[in-house]
Amino acid sequence: MWTRRTFLGAFSTGTLATRHLTLPRPSLVNAREPAQQSSGSARAETMREGELVIERPLAGRPHAGKVLAAIQPHSDDLPLFAAGTVAKLVAEGYTGCLIRMSNDEKAGRGATTGEIVLNNERDNDAIASALGLTKVFNLNYRNHRMDNESRQEIRGRLIHIFRLMKVDTIVCYDPWGHYEENPDHYVTGQVVESAAWMAGSSRDYVEQLEAGLKPHGVSEKYYFARGPQLINRIVDISGTIDRKVECNRANVTQGPAGESGARLRGRLAAEKRRLPILGNDDETANRQYIKHVVLDLDSPALRGVPSDRDLGQRFGLDWAEGFHYIGPPASKLAQYIAENAVAL
Ligand SMILES: [Zn+2]
Repeated sequence: MWTRRTFLGAFSTGTLATRHLTLPRPSLVNAREPAQQSSGSARAETMREGELVIERPLAGRPHAGKVLAAIQPHSDDLPLFAAGTVAKLVAEGYTGCLIRMSNDEKAGRGATTGEIVLNNERDNDAIASALGLTKVFNLNYRNHRMDNESRQEIRGRLIHIFRLMKVDTIVCYDPWGHYEENPDHYVTGQVVESAAWMAGSSRDYVEQLEAGLKPHGVSEKYYFARGPQLINRIVDISGTIDRKVECNRANVTQGPAGESGARLRGRLAAEKRRLPILGNDDETANRQYIKHVVLDLDSPALRGVPSDRDLGQRFGLDWAEGFHYIGPPASKLAQYIAENAVAL
């Protein structure tokens, strides 16, 4: 869930340097030089501290054939922090699934616990549709209690899904995100991190292999966080910002988005006032509130992270999301052999 007693709230200027302690500053202009532009996740990047890649939209469907797993503990995590990137990757050819780890029983509207669970499950399904993710897995661990669960058990289930779906790329909470206070967030991040590589092992959870699955490790990881994090990838979401807004509109049960714009419009009307930016109907108010208040103006207070617009504009983009990206390290051995091997 989004609510957080966040120290980031103090950083109301939303400066990147305060959130991402290791990010270099003025030299970042170099990140937009053509030589450093990413061809997206199609190219392996060797992660070095301080190196930053701007991932821009790619023409066509270069990721066709690849599989994405978007993983969130709660129904509002991906919409708030990574929906623009997930929508971009799907538009560029990925097929994918949405994995929700908890049952969201303690978050949002509903007269009973059962109603809250059902409302969030419906929101989550709508979010998957908005992002173009065609399969949903609800693992349904109890909300706010994931630190009470066996990590081996969670890992085994995730490995099963990674192998079954042949997941190549994941988007999830950063397992090393500092000051994360929600146990569902950090347990998810840490278990996903271990499951991602262990899924490629022929020695782990071998009963799954006996059942016909094949080892299949995850190659690329996009990690987001609400606290200080090593950011090495800025994803240009200017082309998918409106999809991100639509995704957040689906979170009507919990979180700062959903129908908050209409509620604000109604409250102001009762006071005989209005905000022109919210338009003249509730649907417009909801969209405009998400885009201009949740994702921009009041982002540190409502999401605990800097504005997507401010982040983008630091790099000459309209809107952006930041990630710790980990891809497969490039090997020099094949080239060395080609250049140096001699006949016996
Ligand atoms: Zn959450």
